[in-house]
Amino acid sequence: MTRSAPTRPISADAAQAPRRIPSVERLLGGAAAEDLAAYGRTALTEAIRVVLAGIRADATAVPDEAAIRAAATERLAAERLSSLRPVFNLTGTVLHTNLGRALLPRSAAEAVAAVMVQASNLEFDLATGARGERDDHVEALVCRLTGAEAAVVVNNNAAAVLLVLNALAMRKEVVVSRGELVEIGGSFRVPDVMARAGCRLREVGTTNRTHLRDFAEAIGPRTGLVMKVHPSNYAITGFTAAADPVALYALCRERGVPLAEDLGSGSLVDLAAYGLPPEPTVRAALARADVVTFSGDKLLGAVQCGIVAGRKDLIARVRKNPLKRALRVDKMTYAALEAVLRLYLHPERLAEELPTLRLLTRPRAAIDAQARALAPAVAERLSGWAAVSVTECISQIGSGALPVETLPSAALVLVPDPGGAGGRRGAGGRCKRLAERLRALPVPVIGRISGDAVILDLRTLEDEAGFLDSLSAMSPASGEAPNSDGC
Ligand SMILES: *Cc1c(COP(=O)(O)O)cnc(C)c1O
Repeated sequence: MTRSAPTRPISADAAQAPRRIPSVERLLGGAAAEDLAAYGRTALTEAIRVVLAGIRADATAVPDEAAIRAAATERLAAERLSSLRPVFNLTGTVLHTNLGRALLPRSAAEAVAAVMVQASNLEFDLATGARGERDDHVEALVCRLTGAEAAVVVNNNAAAVLLVLNALAMRKEVVVSRGELVEIGGSFRVPDVMARAGCRLREVGTTNRTHLRDFAEAIGPRTGLVMKVHPSNYAITGFTAAADPVALYALCRERGVPLAEDLGSGSLVDLAAYGLPPEPTVRAALARADVVTFSGDKLLGAVQCGIVAGRKDLIARVRKNPLKRALRVDKMTYAALEAVLRLYLHPERLAEELPTLRLLTRPRAAIDAQARALAPAVAERLSGWAAVSVTECISQIGSGALPVETLPSAALVLVPDPGGAGGRRGAGGRCKRLAERLRALPVPVIGRISGDAVILDLRTLEDEAGFLDSLSAMSPASGEAPNSDGC
């Protein structure tokens, strides 16, 4: 656990004769009624035992009974905090994989809650009363928004790729350009996924250059699939060449081999229309591929899932594959995905309604104005901890989309006070200590350390009141002295 609830020192009076360790029964007997009601006798007994064990192990002095009880309830209070909880992502990466990627609009969260507490028609056809198909709740919408003939939903895009490979090319060769054999996020490596899917990788071309003739020579009777992969988190520049996508698709059709494209992020709208750097849309990809795979919680802005969309006959094979059952998603996912897809039917309001797009399209001027307006209130709360100023900075989309493109933004710069916490540690140590303290707030604040400062990129800050509220736990008025950490 990374939280650091301030632990009250257990006071011991060393001048007196050594106190005897009280019994668990005695401590429980004197427990406050509200603690017993809040935590229950079982948990309180357990916590008292743990505290007593600690005292026995390190018995320089035995604290008084009240202090032992307080230590026990403090433990219980700390345990009560959920492990998974909201944070403020002020890292500057909008789709941050470690911080949960896309944020759902309220409407989607409400749709999820509705089907969670009541039965639903997840696999039930309300018109006929017969069994239904869970993908029906979103398939028509995906098709309408992408031009696909059919679509299936699985647990994430990695699962979508695995399923496509296994369903369309098990025990066959999959032809891929060497320039696209990428690793994404450390644990998704195209060659490894291919091996697990039971396919044989047939690499063509070189890291920087692959030509149409490389594909033409490789495609043969053993070929099950030709695959293209969005390079996501890196870009090759300089002396490069890739086969023309239209010509490659024509070649595949001529040879009767399906072409799959893993888009990674995959956008449902043309980001350029919103003033953002362009990213291939699913619709555009489907004009040059038979099936495409993309994530639900990257640019699409919904929840973790992977979507396979494309030609009806191929999607039917994907759906029939036994792995689909193992990779299928829960009703929560369909509820959230359907609600988000519906927002795309109203493109004029999308940049307002879809959090991912709303955050990505915030202009620097607005973020800068927000930073300037907030700086005094933040400075007040961090008084004694850090000096607060405003700077220009650069945000990123994240999750592999547009790795070389950036978004101009503004940030609060927190330069730790040399006299404050970690003062004797040097600038680097003070920054680390400040970042640590920010992560220990009631709603943790996650920024990034740059040079001698902690940077909070405000592109992703919408709940200003909640942010200031959380920071208040550090303010001098809260009684916490910044230089009391004893380092
Ligand atoms: C992100 C990404 C994946 C993995 O998608 P998840 O939804 O995280 O499983 C696969 N391929 C590409 C190209 C990606 O960018």
